[in-house]
Amino acid sequence: MARIYSAKYLVSGDAPPIVGGALLDLDGQIAAVGSLADLQRAHPTVDVVAYADAVLAPLLVNAHTHLELTEFPTWAKSADETAQPESFVDWILRLIRVKRTLSKKDYANSIASGIQQSISAGTGAVGDILSQHASRKVYQGSMLHGTLFLESLGQDPGIINKIKRELRSILAEEQVGQVTLGLSPHSPYTISADYLAEIFSKCRRQKLPCTTHLAESPAEVDFIQQGAGSIADEFYPFIGWEYLIPKGTGCRPAEYLYKQGGLFPGNLLVHGVQLDSAEIELLAAHKMHLALCPRSNAMLNVGKAPVAELLAAGVNLCLGTDSMASNESLSVWDELAFAHSWFDGAVDAPTLLRMATLGGAEALGLAETLGSLSVGKMAGFQVLQPGTAFDENELYDYLAAPGRTEDVVQVFHQGSACLSGL
Ligand SMILES: [Zn+2]
Repeated sequence: MARIYSAKYLVSGDAPPIVGGALLDLDGQIAAVGSLADLQRAHPTVDVVAYADAVLAPLLVNAHTHLELTEFPTWAKSADETAQPESFVDWILRLIRVKRTLSKKDYANSIASGIQQSISAGTGAVGDILSQHASRKVYQGSMLHGTLFLESLGQDPGIINKIKRELRSILAEEQVGQVTLGLSPHSPYTISADYLAEIFSKCRRQKLPCTTHLAESPAEVDFIQQGAGSIADEFYPFIGWEYLIPKGTGCRPAEYLYKQGGLFPGNLLVHGVQLDSAEIELLAAHKMHLALCPRSNAMLNVGKAPVAELLAAGVNLCLGTDSMASNESLSVWDELAFAHSWFDGAVDAPTLLRMATLGGAEALGLAETLGSLSVGKMAGFQVLQPGTAFDENELYDYLAAPGRTEDVVQVFHQGSACLSGL
């Protein structure tokens, strides 16, 4: 089936915006992009769906999230855990306490709700972390693309062996719905050095997608360097790991990851708030992708990622919302708008839009199908209906301003409309 979609502005994501732009969807793939006049001339018999005052934009990529925690605010309220945590480790302890009150069904409902919220906010692909592996089935039948990273952590060799057997059998499925299965060694502070190195080696060998939280908080840096600080004093005893506290490595987080074999482009790093200049160079030299989660970092008060240095070094950056345990929404539009003010001019709006689209698609290995409105890619796009008119030179200001989530009036995946009520 063929159809032309047109709007006042078409933002392709890898070429200048087109005023009066249009795209030709042919059987769920983009077959042409240009002005409406040109497309109609070339395809005179094809129907046109015109969104007169709207903006056509690529689907966004949420490169780091935990959709299983979408219902966290409700759970926290039921568990009487509404007080704001005072530190990063306090926040982790609260998260664990709330998770202990949940059933498998809670997680499944939470993921379903996260998928729905993501699609409605114009997100086409996710890098989603899953600790409750049985809940992966919720992705069957979902339109979301991306990777579902099975989370793994542990310090005790006996327990790790059990986890490894379970992971092996799930990974054999390779795909659930539209998402590919991968692995997430949670972070350098929650997993033994040997197991960490083993996961990285497996992912490299088998070309399995991988993602790792890295350099998120000062507490993590203290723990990796010295085996000390609040992670050793509070977190490890809380989960009964006090006898498993490793010795300090004397390394910065990225150096430590490098020593465990974790710096390869297939390992999507997340946060990078604490990276110093030498670590940034290390990431750039290994062609790493890094997902920034500014709203989560702000809520947990762990600092601000050195975004200007990362961009200057050539590290591919993308955006993630992290979970609803440390954020107010799962919308990448909201993340983009927050990042625009949070980074205070260090990143311009077109760069932020790139991070939210093509940067994320590259990080998740999806750049062939998503990330921009380009010929040959999936006909995946969204329609934004601005409340007030603006000039062409204000287009990027509009896209990077708060309130875009509410402007998403339609979303197309493989040429099919996903939102009802138009
Ligand atoms: Zn996370």
